[in-house]
This record gives sequence, structure tokens and C-alpha cells, in this order.
Amino acid sequence: MRVLIVEDDIPLGMFLQKGLQMEGHTVAWVGDGELALERAAAERPDLMVLDLGLPKRDGVEVLEAMQGLYRGMAVIVLTGRAQVEERVRCLNLGADDILLKPFSLYELTARCRALLRRLEHYADPALRSGDLELNRMDRKVTRGGRPVELTVKEFSLLEYLLQQRGRCCSRSELLREVWQMSPDAGTNVVDVYVNYLRKKLAVGEGATAPVIETVRGEGYQVGGVVEMRGIPKPVQSHPAYGYGVPGAVLAGGRRYGS
Ligand code: CA
Repeated sequence: MRVLIVEDDIPLGMFLQKGLQMEGHTVAWVGDGELALERAAAERPDLMVLDLGLPKRDGVEVLEAMQGLYRGMAVIVLTGRAQVEERVRCLNLGADDILLKPFSLYELTARCRALLRRLEHYADPALRSGDLELNRMDRKVTRGGRPVELTVKEFSLLEYLLQQRGRCCSRSELLREVWQMSPDAGTNVVDVYVNYLRKKLAVGEGATAPVIETVRGEGYQVGGVVEMRGIPKPVQSHPAYGYGVPGAVLAGGRRYGS
């Protein structure tokens, strides 16, 4: 699952990011309320871990601004303030859970798991593209019904690409989002892992159809891009909408399904 941590305390933010990554989540971390809103809108994480005392816009303002917008996203509020009124206010504004500082990482990860389980009722845990299916709850991947064994990083990369389906992801974006590395890290780790994935996904009847497309000079992409009035628009990425429109024009001018 994709988690966005909003915490301005750097040691705590780092600690949370490490801990949630070890649980197998893809974790982004921002330090103020404005960035939190930007990232929530752009990336629709499954879970936001939100501190209340934040620069620019505090946690309560973030909750107010997000109210009613992201039904599929759970929010855990972290607060050092124990006032009942404030906690009630957060819950009324859509927070799903509140954790008082100091808390143990063990408790936070347990509560995250419980919330993410509940999310199953809102969202299909499976991400799909053609005969490929990735289940975010039990962390299983199948192609044409056959199981594919992936490492934690391979899984995170494929999950990210499937979530951004229909949109080309640049190498620097993948480095930042999947590896939490700077775009100028000067590493070819993205290309190496895309190759690992392609080899592992080449199973079953669909083996010859590439899952991950190379968009020359740009990056990598799963699924097609629909062209509307000359402007490429991403295919609706919700699993319920399928993974592409036959005949749609892909980046690079090819037609989807050809
Ligand atoms: Ca704070």
C-alpha cells in the first residue's frame, strides 16, 4: 500500500518511514501541510499518517481541506496534545484513528494494518493490467493465473507503475517514489529492476505481451494513453475501469492492443 507521512519532526519522520517501509509499504514523507495536500491530490495514497502540529497548514487544516475528497484514503492522526475536543474535531473531520505521542512503532503499524484491512471495503485491493494481477492486501502477483514471486522492491515498483497506469513514469520519479533516492543519484537501479520484473512476468500465455513499456527518452509505463482532442490523457486508473481502451493511441504513436 502507499502511505504518505506528514511529519515535520525529522527524526520521527525518518523513523516512521523506515518502519512502514519494513512493513512492505511504499512510503512518501513530507514536512508541511501544504505539501501534504499537494501529494494527496496528485498521488492518492491509501493511508496518510498526519501530525497535527505542522508548518504552513496544520493537521486540522489539512483534514478540513481534504474533507469528503478522498473516500478511499484512511488517515491516522498523530498528536502530542491530549485535549478531547481536538481529537473529537479530527474524527469529525474524517480522521479514522488518532494516536497520542509518544507511541510505539509496533502500535502504529498494527493500527495501519487494521485500517488498510478496512479499506478493502472501499477499494478493490487488486491492481490489474491485462492478465497481470497484483493484490495489495496479500501481496501476491499472478500473470495469467500463474503465481509470480517478487522481492519487496520488485513488488513496490510494479505496484507503483500499476497505480500510475496509463501514465509514463520517469526514472527520476521512480527513484524518488520507490527507492526514496534523489533523482541525481546516478544509478541505473530502475532499469535493472524493470528488467528483473520483465523476466519474472514473462510467464503463461501472455508471456510475449510486454507489461512494462519503455517510453523512449521518457521512462516506463504500464497500460495505454488515450488521446483526446490531441492531448494525451491518462486512462482512468481505477481497477474497475479496466486497464486500457482498445485502439487508444499509446505514447509513441502505437495503438493499444496492436
Ligand atoms: Ca509536529
